[in-house]
This record gives sequence, C-alpha cells and structure tokens, in this order.
Amino acid sequence: MNKVIVIGGGASGLLAALSAKENQSDVMILERNNKLGKKILATGNGRCNFTNVDATEMHYNHPYFVKPVFEQMTPKKTLAYFESLGVIPKVESEGKTYPLSEQASSIVDVLVYEIERLAIPVIYEAKVVGIKKNQDFEITLEDGRILHADKVILATGGMAMPKSGSDGIGYELALSLGHTMTSIFPALVKLELESPYLKAMDGVKFPGTVELIYHGASIQTEQGDVLFTKYGISGPTILQISRKANALLQDNQLIELKVVLVNGPEKRDIAKRFSLLSEKTAEQSLIGLINKRLIHPILKDVHIEPHVLIKQVNKEKLNLLIQRLFDWRFKVIGSKDFDDAQVTAGGLSIHEFNPQTLQSKKVSGLFVCGEVIDIDGLCGGYNLQWAWASGYVAGKHASQ
Ligand SMILES: Cc1cc2nc3c(=O)[nH]c(=O)nc-3n(C[C@H](O)[C@H](O)[C@H](O)COP(=O)(O)OP(=O)(O)OC[C@H]3O[C@@H](n4cnc5c(N)ncnc54)[C@H](O)[C@@H]3O)c2cc1C
Repeated sequence: MNKVIVIGGGASGLLAALSAKENQSDVMILERNNKLGKKILATGNGRCNFTNVDATEMHYNHPYFVKPVFEQMTPKKTLAYFESLGVIPKVESEGKTYPLSEQASSIVDVLVYEIERLAIPVIYEAKVVGIKKNQDFEITLEDGRILHADKVILATGGMAMPKSGSDGIGYELALSLGHTMTSIFPALVKLELESPYLKAMDGVKFPGTVELIYHGASIQTEQGDVLFTKYGISGPTILQISRKANALLQDNQLIELKVVLVNGPEKRDIAKRFSLLSEKTAEQSLIGLINKRLIHPILKDVHIEPHVLIKQVNKEKLNLLIQRLFDWRFKVIGSKDFDDAQVTAGGLSIHEFNPQTLQSKKVSGLFVCGEVIDIDGLCGGYNLQWAWASGYVAGKHASQ
C-alpha cells in the first residue's frame, strides 16, 4: 500500500492526511507539538474564520497557481465538508465564515475526531529534522528515529506565530531536497509608524479609513476599525494593508499611511461647524467629532493652541486642520515581526510545483500544502481556505 507521511499536523496537514486516507493510502502524521492544530485555536480571535464563501483565486498573490487547487476544493466544498463533520457555518460580513459555536476548538475537535475515526496514526513530539530521497523517502526525527515513506507531504506552515510550531524549518527541509524559495516577510501584521504623537494616541480606537500611499498615489483603501498604538497602528484595516506595505518596505520604498479621522461629514460640513462654534476653543470645537485623545496631537500637528478661540485662528490654519481631519499622513517605517503576524508572505517557489497536484517538479513523490509555499491571501478566512484546499489536493494526488 502507498505509504504517505504528512509532516505537520496543522490545518493543511490534517486535511492532507484525511484526503490521503480517503483515497486509500496508508497515511501517518508527524507533528512536533504534543497536539494537533495548535495554531487553528488562535485563529479569528479564537472564533476561527475558517473559510470565506466568496474566496476566489483573485484573493491571493498568485491567482494562476491557486485556481486549479480551488477547482478541486471550492469554499462551498469546504463548507460541505465541515458540515458533514458537524460544523454549522455562520456567514458574516464580506463572506467571513465561522463555526456557529464561535469556537475555534470546534474546528480542531471535529478534525481530530475524524483522524481518530479513520485510525490515522499520529506521532506527537516528532520534529522532522531531515529528509532524503533515494528509492523511497527517509525521514529523520530530532530524537534520531528514522521513518520511510513512498510519498511525503510537507505541511509545516510558514514562519508566522512560530511558537505554534511553524518556525520555518519546513523551508530548510525543502531546500535540502533542492527546492528554492522567495524572500519571506510577515503579512497581516501591525505596522510601525514614525510620529511624535504615538505615545499620546496609544490605545485610541476609532472607525476610520486608511489608505496606503506610494509615490503620492493611493494604492489600497480600507475602512473599519483603526487602533493607534505606541509603536504605530493596528486593527483589521491595517492588517489588510500590511501585506502590500511590507512588500514595498522590503524593496526599500518610501510609503505613507493616510488616515481619515472623519467619516461621514464632508469638509464643507466641518467648515460650517467651525463657523457655528467660533466662540469655542479649538479643543472644544473638536469634541464630539473625533476621539478626545486625538484632539491635542492633531492640533499640535497644525500648530493651533488648544485654548485659542476658533474665531482667532487664522483661515489658513483652520483650513489646514480641516485638511488633516480628512488626510493625516504618517510615514510607515516597518511592521511587527513573525511573532505577531498571521501569515507569511513568500515561501517555496511555486514554479517548482505542479498546481494541479501540488507535487514537486524536482523531487517525485514530494507534495506541499498550506503556508510553506509562496501563497498568501487577505485577512478574512482566505488563508485557512488555502490550507484546507491545498491539503485536500496534496493528499488526493499523493495517493495516486
Ligand atoms: C493569530 C492568527 C490568527 C489567524 N486567523 C486566521 C483566520 O481567522 N482565518 C484564516 O483563514 N487564517 C487565519 N490565520 C492564518 C492560518 O492560521 C494559517 O494560514 C494556517 O494555519 C496555515 O496552515 P498550515 O497547515 O500551512 O500551517 P500551520 O497551521 O502553521 O501548521 C503547521 C504544523 O506543522 C508543524 N511542524 C512544523 N515543522 C515541523 C517539523 N519539522 N516536524 C513536525 N511538525 C512540524 C507545526 O507544529 C504545525 O502544527 C491566522 C494565523 C494566526 C497566527
């Protein structure tokens, strides 16, 4: 019987093993942790945004590579699969889908029950440190044990949240077999800004709009919660922008973030407000419009004293203040690292794998799935959808 070893018992590895077993392979999972699916528990703030019903290949960095995989495992099929295991999906805004229980542990539990039901052996605390390919694959564990397999599925994840077990060792294993990889960087991550006001604004959360500015033009716009922190900025809007931002920073490009503090009213409404409130101080005139803790920083930025009456502020400065409320620029100087990132951008070169089967073009019998390969998507269930779909495809084809 075709013996398949899956290295890594995370999202993609679990689906790969289940799919290989359903296709009649003798499959085994090697997981370095003492439990399966550790990272899944942290997803979606503990609720696990396990897929996105609207996901298409266009939501990823290499659509052409994702397309044939999604043709074999669409988001609809993911939903049906998890429903067959007992998970009722709850579809929220923008197609984000969670288990009705709103517990990430539900997703891990149903997968582990299925692994047990199908009697798929799992070796825990089995860190793979070497792979060789001769007649078959020879896999070396950290404790010196050696295992053999006809096929290997590399499902070791990327570098994001290394304490969950995905610390990049999977890349080394693939490189030792002759594969190459692109440069990698954290994505879906908080950004660091240069600004003298961060300490004062630390912890301020507001519904706003943020735009990524490159060469003076806006290249991505996101609306929603924004959170200033002592190092920079965070929130779902920023996570979405971070991938593009970090890619440009990798290239030593200068980028800025445009923050729109006022959403709804237009500039002329604010001008009218200031004329109505002309007897109030500058500080008082902004109360009720923006978060109170942003008032002093923004006034300082346009050189208006908080206690001066609006009627005493010259027109130029008042116009500058109105302008800032709708366009406050910050230089982006970096991001948090992999410890804080949700995904890894970059990874094993897609050109060395067949997108129909996820088999290596260099090493026959080696398959990949999940984040270890150079595929990443937006925040919103897209990365787990890739993990499930690529795991399913790798498992299926490793069994043929
Ligand atoms: C905080 C956080 C929140 C997230 N939220 C979401 C979300 O809501 N929705 C979404 O779609 N995506 C989310 N993601 C991203 C998503 O979790 C990942 O893209 C996905 O888990 C990747 O699956 P994977 O199987 O490739 O890797 P992983 O899930 O990282 O699994 C890799 C497994 O391989 C094991 N391993 C590694 N090396 C070895 C080795 N040498 N030997 C043996 N075992 C090894 C690891 O211990 C681990 O169990 C989130 C990520 C994080 C960090």
